[in-house]
Amino acid sequence: MTTAPAEAAKGALARYEAVIGIEIHCQLKTASKMFCGCSTDIDGAAPNSHTCPVCLGLPGTLPTINKSAVEWVIAAGFAIEAQTPPATRWDRKNYFYPDIPKGYQISQYQLPLAANGRLTFDTSAGPVTVRIRRAHLEEDTGRLIHQEMAGRRASLIDFNRSGMPLMEIVTEPDIRTAEQARRYAEELRLLMRTIGASDAEMENGQMRVEANVSIRPIGREAFGTRVEVKNMNSMKAVERAIGFEIERQAELIDGGDKVRMETRGWDEPSQSTYHMRPKEEENDYRYFPEPDLPPLMTTPEWLAEIATRIPELPSVRRARYTGEFGLSSYDANVLVNDASATALFEGALAVGAGVSPKLLANWVTGEYLRLAKGDAGGGSVDPVELAALARLVADGAISGTNAKEVLAEHYASAAPVASIVEARGFRQISDSGALGKAINDALAANPAAVADYRAGKAAAVGFLVGQVMKATRGQANAAMVQTALRERLEAAE
Ligand code: ADP
Ligand code: MG
Ligand code: ZN
Repeated sequence: MTTAPAEAAKGALARYEAVIGIEIHCQLKTASKMFCGCSTDIDGAAPNSHTCPVCLGLPGTLPTINKSAVEWVIAAGFAIEAQTPPATRWDRKNYFYPDIPKGYQISQYQLPLAANGRLTFDTSAGPVTVRIRRAHLEEDTGRLIHQEMAGRRASLIDFNRSGMPLMEIVTEPDIRTAEQARRYAEELRLLMRTIGASDAEMENGQMRVEANVSIRPIGREAFGTRVEVKNMNSMKAVERAIGFEIERQAELIDGGDKVRMETRGWDEPSQSTYHMRPKEEENDYRYFPEPDLPPLMTTPEWLAEIATRIPELPSVRRARYTGEFGLSSYDANVLVNDASATALFEGALAVGAGVSPKLLANWVTGEYLRLAKGDAGGGSVDPVELAALARLVADGAISGTNAKEVLAEHYASAAPVASIVEARGFRQISDSGALGKAINDALAANPAAVADYRAGKAAAVGFLVGQVMKATRGQANAAMVQTALRERLEAAE
């Protein structure tokens, strides 16, 4: 392939339409595993240190359902406007692989906890809605590690991840571009984080995105043969991998070849997909109802109680920020997409310092996020202090430039805004008596500038403002100085 994938994909999209369905696995934020009491806190733990007979799949053990995992999927179902049936069921998905010691995975096949949902998100070409077929609960597998040991190739297995609660969310094949696919995954990630179901970090596997990609000539109804793409560990990779895949399939078809049904992996270094394994026509998992678990009843009271725990969802929040507060949709997005920014903005608003939401939003989307994302990352801003700072600037008590320094210092040291302003001598002189003296001095010391102004050189006032600022070591309220100087220069004529 000679052209860059992104460029080339545009070419392919002139002749073909892509059809994409996304499957996402999210690790749920529970204290214990799906069917046993083992801790889910496995990050950095020694291999196989978080295991028990249940998650090792030993014979004679019985699973116990983790209630909070079930509740997270029900909550996610609400968030994607899906339906939860009155009774759901557990099914065995049978397959043989060394990372699954029972020889089957407990999953949900015919009656998922959530079905027929949807998600709407923004793209560069406007809002798009994707139908979500289902969201169900299942258990994770162990992890195989292939490495050299004593000069031989060895395969090791770590069962810490075995039995971790996973939610799988599957879309209908409604997605048409690589960008839509990335935006869908981003919005779903935001949703999971907002409701608290998952941290959904792609880098450490808490969120795994798989894309089913096919293409068809524009105008044709029937779907083409699909390829499943895995191993994308960032949102950027999702978009690039799908873009690459669309182009690869277009080249195959243009060259008279057929697209093979297969599973491909995304290779970050070469920015391309590679063949992993062929995909048989239909996997035969021999699903059947899990005999060790009864069906799970979801009473209306339980569902209603879960619904009360769901916070304001991103789409509702964005609409409130633009509608009620008059924020631009760009700013609303920036605020809503970052949980710490949302919390800071909401917290500062709640202080009721009499500062407009727009001003607070500017501080959060501008200075705060610059600090949080920059080298200075690791600090924090207290919403009460941010409100106080914005108030000081709005009152003209300190300059905007100095306020940025104050915020940076507060971010790093957590010191109160008032004491930083005090210590740095940032409080502006807005007292007209004190300013009057400095202005008189400046006028007396600079007769040439005064004469220039009176001769019609209006810009001379800038020089005089500068002199007053210098004399007050930058603490004078520059806007007040300018107004007062103008008044004095004109009055004395
Ligand atoms: P599997 O059993 O392999 O997981 P599914 O029928 O569950 O297959 O579909 C998996 C995903 O693939 C779904 O998101 C679905 O929308 C999508 N999909 C199905 N057919 C196609 C196709 N021809 N092109 C692209 N995506 C497809
Ligand atoms: Mg599937
Ligand atoms: Zn266990």
